[in-house]
Amino acid sequence: MINIDYNSIRMQLLDRKERLDRVISDIDKSPHLLQLLHQVDSALERIDNGTFGICEVCHDPIESERLIVDPLIRVCLDHLSKHQQRALEQDLDMASKIQRALLPNNNFVSNEWEIYFHYEPAGMVSGDYCDIIKPNNQQDDNLIVTIGDVSGKGVAASMLMTHMHALFHSMTDLELSVNELVRRANRLFCESTAFTHYATLTVSKLYPNGKIEICNAGHCFPMVLGHETSHSIEATGMPIGIFNEGEYFSKEITLLPGEMLLLYTDGLNEARKDEEEFGIDRLTELARRMINKSAKEAVELIIESLKNFLSGTAKLDDLTIMAVKRR
Ligand SMILES: [Zn+2]
Repeated sequence: MINIDYNSIRMQLLDRKERLDRVISDIDKSPHLLQLLHQVDSALERIDNGTFGICEVCHDPIESERLIVDPLIRVCLDHLSKHQQRALEQDLDMASKIQRALLPNNNFVSNEWEIYFHYEPAGMVSGDYCDIIKPNNQQDDNLIVTIGDVSGKGVAASMLMTHMHALFHSMTDLELSVNELVRRANRLFCESTAFTHYATLTVSKLYPNGKIEICNAGHCFPMVLGHETSHSIEATGMPIGIFNEGEYFSKEITLLPGEMLLLYTDGLNEARKDEEEFGIDRLTELARRMINKSAKEAVELIIESLKNFLSGTAKLDDLTIMAVKRR
């Protein structure tokens, strides 16, 4: 849950009150505006008497993410009216559609690469970020592939995911190295989001000759599946959104035809059945069976294995798996 800055909410409410007062006295004395003014006054009163953010029905705290978006609400999610619940469901449905529309085309194929991903939110929306970006400038034949995981869950995390999407799409035409891309994304993320929010991610630049430049900002280790051996790529920097002045480095690998880079979020390796995690060992074991498969078959093999492992236990975290194969 996010911490609430009561003072800043109070300032926002006072500002709204002033605007409302002005409109009401100058132009419009409609019952709707008067009622809104009453709601603002009552929220200010609740801040002053210490009952702000407490559900009026069950007296439990109201979800802080919702309060930050709308300080006028007075009940927790469990105690919305039928009408409010329906409105919320419609909002979530819309958010989910918007988020789906931001995903890249799946089963991407170029002369050099074949990329397939599986993107599965735990709820209606996801805090995972998954992208394949082809820079617009024609002389650049490279591809940018990203996978990331925003802290937290639900709507707040999904909004940050869309924010990351916009950040990367605005920067990929600048022909930056991957560490410079991540360094800038980190600064922008720090400046534009709450202190409590951060994201882990890997950004890879794919070149036409099989070379991949990869920066891992505190994310689950990507796996390189070679014909001879496999290995993981450890973090080369901190998650983004923590320190403004973060330094990022990249690693370079070269895939031979048929070799694969496997990217995923912790919804895979940290998936739990009772006390047991799916884990990296299981993934490494699977990797041996992936090398002769297509990117799509490799991802499907993992999903199948995860499904068998969970055998009906609900998945609690967002899940993204992506395979990048050199053709
Ligand atoms: Zn309640």
